[in-house]
Amino acid sequence: MRKTIFQFFHWYYPKNKLWKDVSQQAEHLEWLGISDVWLPPAYKSSAGSNGVGYDVYDLFDLGEFDQKGSVKTKYGTKNQLINSIKTLHQHNLNAMADIVLNHKNGADETETATVIKVDYNDRNKIVSEAFEKEINTKYYFPGRNKKYSEFVWDWHAFTGVDECTSDEGNCIFKILNEHGGEAWDNVIGNEFGNFDYLLGADIEFRNPNVRNELKYWGKWFIETTAFDSLRLDAVKHISPDFYKEWLDYLNETFQKKFFTVAEYWSSDLHFLHEYLNVMEDRVQLFDVPLHHNLYDASMKGKDYNLPDIFNNTLVGTRSQSAVTFVDNHDTQPTQSLESFVDFWFKPHANALILLRQEGVPCVFHPSYYGGSYESNGNKIDLAPVPHLYKMLMIRKNLFDGQQCDYFDHPNVISWFVSGTLENRNAGFVVVLSNSDDGFKEMNLGSLNGNRKFVDVTGSFADAIQTNDEGIAIFPVKSRSISIWIKEEALDKIK
Ligand code: CA
Repeated sequence: MRKTIFQFFHWYYPKNKLWKDVSQQAEHLEWLGISDVWLPPAYKSSAGSNGVGYDVYDLFDLGEFDQKGSVKTKYGTKNQLINSIKTLHQHNLNAMADIVLNHKNGADETETATVIKVDYNDRNKIVSEAFEKEINTKYYFPGRNKKYSEFVWDWHAFTGVDECTSDEGNCIFKILNEHGGEAWDNVIGNEFGNFDYLLGADIEFRNPNVRNELKYWGKWFIETTAFDSLRLDAVKHISPDFYKEWLDYLNETFQKKFFTVAEYWSSDLHFLHEYLNVMEDRVQLFDVPLHHNLYDASMKGKDYNLPDIFNNTLVGTRSQSAVTFVDNHDTQPTQSLESFVDFWFKPHANALILLRQEGVPCVFHPSYYGGSYESNGNKIDLAPVPHLYKMLMIRKNLFDGQQCDYFDHPNVISWFVSGTLENRNAGFVVVLSNSDDGFKEMNLGSLNGNRKFVDVTGSFADAIQTNDEGIAIFPVKSRSISIWIKEEALDKIK
């Protein structure tokens, strides 16, 4: 079966129901042909049950301890989490964990440490003498009371903090610990001189006690929850050396190779390749450049040259390492990386990830289920993407044969997957337009001679018949998509 990831959350998912919803939807997700269900960060946020989870307070609190104002995380209790993963397994689905190890938030106490101030725009530039500062780096989790781990985090376990008093503006303090001194950790990329520091209290992976604690945690976490695959948050800000060691440890401990996708948020393909090289292909990466191409195409309309859509993307250059996606919790409106693909183009974008041979696609929850968010006090609905169900069913049931592209016109592109001699009803034709009504004459080969094709999007009522050689003209409506399958295959997408 083709791998297909489903991101089962978005930023504004309602509180205290997600784990239950996962259990309820597991059977349906299996029906859709999903292989991996990506769940949100499962540990206690510094904002308690209001936190999405990327502001991690306690990695060992999966909704079990009364900390940060509640026992539950935003998504429910530890038992509900474990049950939801059990249910996914009953439906042959992998549960993908969101691993957030770059930073911590919500310290239990302040402590005094020696720090230097660095230039916000060039983190390698020191702009103060060393001085003593009261910082939020002491974590001992009184609500958990040493259950599962006695490790106490303090300033030796962090590289830096961003704690400005009054009117200092953006400022970052490097903690002069014994592991790095004035130097940030080695990360891939060159934004801000060095982008080790993202937010909160940034974890010091050069500290061997920290590495050991995080390995111990990883083993505990997988044993406790039975997660199958991994999504690594914010790897642009983490030394690849750490994740190599950590993943090797988990793979060795559990005697398997965890499918792992890392989030390196950059449109610069050079850095994505560098990261993959340094990681020696232990991970795949989200195809951020493709997301930006999809976004650009949705903004520019007919002025976007559709044959460029895979240019300078991971899936276009190193497809075996690419996890393709249209949108996620960070790109959705009001979020930090807002670049939400415009609605008219979402069917196009989803076809470009789901109905292609290359890349492992990841479907965003609101694209399938819809959702809503608030902006300036107004509730705004996210409508489900048209035809997504049918695209998933085609991917699951009809994706067989050779793929052939007709990326030969700025405003109308198409491709087909041929089916095979043994599986003659498989295969499909996709036509995309970003401008006027259009069409594409395509040669599907003699294997597909004299076959009737129907448009599952409903744009065209009449079937298209290929000639003896398998040639036919497939139309598409203005700024729309059409997806054609063989008439005999219609019951495969019900
Ligand atoms: Ca970092």
